[in-house]
Amino acid sequence: MHFLRNLIILFLICIAIKINLCVPTIPSSLKTLPIDGHFDFKQVHHAAKDFGNRYSFLPSAVLHPKSASDIATTVKHIWEMGPGSHLTVAARGHGHSLQGQAQAHRGVVINMESLQGPKMKVHTGNFPHVDVSGSELWINILHETLKHGLAPKSWTDYLHLTVGGTLSNAGISGQAFRHGPQISNVRQLEVVTGKGEVVNCSEKQNSDLFYSVLGGLGQFGIITRARISLEPAPKMVKWIRVLYTDFATFAKDQEMLISGGSTFDYIEGFVIINRTGLLNNWRSSFNSNDSAQASHFKSDGRTLFCLELAKYFNPEEMAIVNQEIMTSLSQLNHIPSTLFQSQVSYIEFLDRVHISEIKLRSKGLWEVPHPWLNLLIPRSNIHIFAQLVFGNILTNTSNGPILIYPVNKSKWDNRTSVVLPEEDVFYLVAFLSSAAPSSTGSDGLEHILSQNKRILELCEIDGLGVKQYLPHYSTNGEWRSHFGPQWEAFVHRKSTYDPLAILAPGQRIFQKAAPLSL
Ligand code: FAD
Repeated sequence: MHFLRNLIILFLICIAIKINLCVPTIPSSLKTLPIDGHFDFKQVHHAAKDFGNRYSFLPSAVLHPKSASDIATTVKHIWEMGPGSHLTVAARGHGHSLQGQAQAHRGVVINMESLQGPKMKVHTGNFPHVDVSGSELWINILHETLKHGLAPKSWTDYLHLTVGGTLSNAGISGQAFRHGPQISNVRQLEVVTGKGEVVNCSEKQNSDLFYSVLGGLGQFGIITRARISLEPAPKMVKWIRVLYTDFATFAKDQEMLISGGSTFDYIEGFVIINRTGLLNNWRSSFNSNDSAQASHFKSDGRTLFCLELAKYFNPEEMAIVNQEIMTSLSQLNHIPSTLFQSQVSYIEFLDRVHISEIKLRSKGLWEVPHPWLNLLIPRSNIHIFAQLVFGNILTNTSNGPILIYPVNKSKWDNRTSVVLPEEDVFYLVAFLSSAAPSSTGSDGLEHILSQNKRILELCEIDGLGVKQYLPHYSTNGEWRSHFGPQWEAFVHRKSTYDPLAILAPGQRIFQKAAPLSL
């Protein structure tokens, strides 16, 4: 008995020693770095969590920087430790990643929200813009710029995300058809590279770094400041929803609206399966003026497609705007009895998802697993995709909103790192599922993940040319195939700006200090 117990203890000690030898240990030198902020080596659990609620990698330390220089000092120190150290660094914006992208297993997480930097500054004039910290939340930028009657042009549906977090991906919403994504509306960045250098970059200055970082999944540098283009802000928004039973008609109308001089300022759409979220779903606070009519509308269990439009205006333009909207709507082929309208302030419209967040949080439904799947699908294959997915896989119910809307590729800059389908128009299709904790049924995590897998497999088998947005892969081969012909340039950029692969380990594209292979 004693012998067995000793054997088990010996075995456990061996495992402990082995683990210790394999994992990076935090050097005490971090504690002596000359920084204004501080490291926390104990309270690190928060940095191992994200909105996806599925991945949790504990870091060894969290840096709470006060300045860009704190970030540069830390990254430079780790860079100078050379390839013998396995220490990595992840910038954590607001932690709204879905699969651990802002985490660093036994590395250093930089809590960007502690960054103080120069105050946000709005510049009016012919080319209005705002200078902000990379850690700034878009909602704060909205409030500050509105004081000057201005606002950014391109948004995400949800504004409690950081500038650095969305610019590392793209930042897509219903304004992208006209203005492009958020990465098309940035003029200048300040970046800390993987060597700990602080570099200013723009289209004219260090342009390769500028375009590398935009849509670069945090691989090339940490964004500490950004200059964002602004436009005059409207006061009010007409918010409109119309329904379709036929996908082809819905898509035709969406494509007609995004081509040329559309009346509308925002164009999105979503799928309604089995009446889930006929007028409302968690990602918006739409309250139709015609709610009585809406509640009488019978979908008879059919899958419906809802076109969502918004027109910005100022109160004095009301009459003319109403006329323009009527003219534009008359060109659409939606179900005639399904025109739902609402009028809200510009802030209410842009911050619409936050209202739902508050409601969901109060019911404990915000911090559940979120097995989201975001796809970019070429226009020529969207019909076959819709048939395969809405006709076969998701026939009875969905576990959250499903967004679907087209954007124009001409509004994206092909010098950025973001990976897009090959056609001029492509659709964003977002399956924004929430899983019921510990359910083994159709609302459980396993079921939703296997549905996502089936969707991806069908895209692959049918060769639909789909790209993942907010991509997530586990093998090098999958990443190569995601980047396709862009892989070589991506690796080249990595070897230039972060040659030891210190940054953004949670994306799992490169391994620290492993040779970068083409
Ligand atoms: P984090 O999760 O903290 O970080 C994301 C990645 O960026 C990580 O790799 C991290 O290391 C890196 N990173 C963070 N900060 C920096 C920085 N300063 N410099 C360099 N790299 C950095 N996206 C859209 O495009 N459109 C939408 O409409 C949209 N809606 C959303 C709604 C909700 C409710 C949620 C949860 C997400 C939504 N997203 C949307 C996705 C969102 O844009 C990304 O998840 C984004 O990364 C989250 O920003 P964050 O600040 O929380 O970043």
